[in-house]
Amino acid sequence: MEKAITRFAPSPTGYIHLGNVRSAIYPYLLAKQTGGTFILRIEDTDQARFVEGATDLIKETLLWLGLNWDEGPDVGGPHAPYFQTERKELYLSWAKRLIAEGRAYADPTPPEKIDEYRKADEAEKVPYLYRNHRPLDTPEWQEGMPIRFKTIPKNYEWHDEVMGDLKSSPEVLDDIILIKKDGLPTYNFAHIVDDAEMGVTHVIRGQEYLSSMPNYLALYEALNLPRPKFVSLPHILAPQGNKKLSKRDGAKSVTEYRDDGILPEAMLNYLACLGWNDGSEQEIYDLKELLEKFSLDRIQNSGARFDETKLLWMNGVWIRKIKDEEGIDVLYAKISPDFWPDSAKNYPEEYRKKVLNIIYDRLKLLSELKTFTSYFFEEPEIDKELILKNKMLKKLSEDDLQKLLSLTSTRLSSLENWTAENIQAALNDLLAETNKKPGELFSLIRLAVSFAPFSPSLDLTLEVLGKERTLARLNLAARSIN
Ligand code: GLU
Repeated sequence: MEKAITRFAPSPTGYIHLGNVRSAIYPYLLAKQTGGTFILRIEDTDQARFVEGATDLIKETLLWLGLNWDEGPDVGGPHAPYFQTERKELYLSWAKRLIAEGRAYADPTPPEKIDEYRKADEAEKVPYLYRNHRPLDTPEWQEGMPIRFKTIPKNYEWHDEVMGDLKSSPEVLDDIILIKKDGLPTYNFAHIVDDAEMGVTHVIRGQEYLSSMPNYLALYEALNLPRPKFVSLPHILAPQGNKKLSKRDGAKSVTEYRDDGILPEAMLNYLACLGWNDGSEQEIYDLKELLEKFSLDRIQNSGARFDETKLLWMNGVWIRKIKDEEGIDVLYAKISPDFWPDSAKNYPEEYRKKVLNIIYDRLKLLSELKTFTSYFFEEPEIDKELILKNKMLKKLSEDDLQKLLSLTSTRLSSLENWTAENIQAALNDLLAETNKKPGELFSLIRLAVSFAPFSPSLDLTLEVLGKERTLARLNLAARSIN
């Protein structure tokens, strides 16, 4: 396979949405599976949209997902610098070359004049194209003056690895701006220069750039550059309707999902499969397997719908997978202390691991640990109503409830060896002795020790809580009832 040189070229504008990251995953996979190079390039030439700290967020996100770049910020490389603002002179020299060849011009037209052209065209109902107003006299370029491409209207045909064979007609070509008034290049120009300088073989990006392709093709031609392969990724669609996923649809940024307790393995898996599959029914992939199976030709060409429920489901699968395949220590190590209840910090790691060990298979988000496990670390607030109003317990009188709790406490207090197995045996004996349904007796005990809507299986919960604490809580609950 040809070594692919790919790039992720984000603009540091703040919010890293899921589509952005998917545009990093595919180039990463392609570069790695072909023994090629994955470049990170920061496209920071749009100063109006620049957000302080955004580059750090981009780097943090990629590293979190394990998408380490071979060239780019921090790691350097043969094409440094990797920030476009630091490459200003390069773009200018390429633009000047085009001026010298008669394929670009310094444009002295003041903005008010340009506005007039636009309005006049609108009034006459003709499509506004700057090339119809191209100035006759163009001065020598000087700072503060934009440089525009001098386009030649014609037809173009090209192949997109995802969208297939495409073509365009001359009216979409215009004298696009190459260098802006502030001396910085436009995205349209800079990415072509950089992709060429950096030897990029595959341009993988969102489909929103498709409509500009004819102008890009005209630039490749004027600059005498070979075309790279084009890979346009379809939009990620909002859960409802036919529109692109946006913040307004409740989509969080990648780091927000991380902070909610999505594992990077799950995020990577979910995003990689959002618009790609290997032709089978398989849904769970680790990075190694993605590297084996990923191929450009199986990227789908229609929008992929974002489904948060599925992301959460997949995260649950990953939590269980890591525990079952790599063990509780590995899973534990992946959980930041922030996900635990604050009170957990007063307990040794071994205890927290025991709690995790009995609850992990119910988690969809790591942040659920906070609410799901608090009663293992602190005394739950006694809420007698929770017991009295429980639908399993409605038939029992307060007196019955109290007696059941006291009896349970007495029976369990005689247990010498506090293991789940012995606890279960004692609970079974109690069932027989009291002639209650498991749903009644066990719900009551569960509520009395946790006051939580659910807990792991009762024997395990009591084992981890410990004998002393279990008995104390049973007694306290019994007393609270009358
Ligand atoms: N800077 C562009 C963006 O953030 C990148 C597009 C591309 O990959 O060429 O959308």
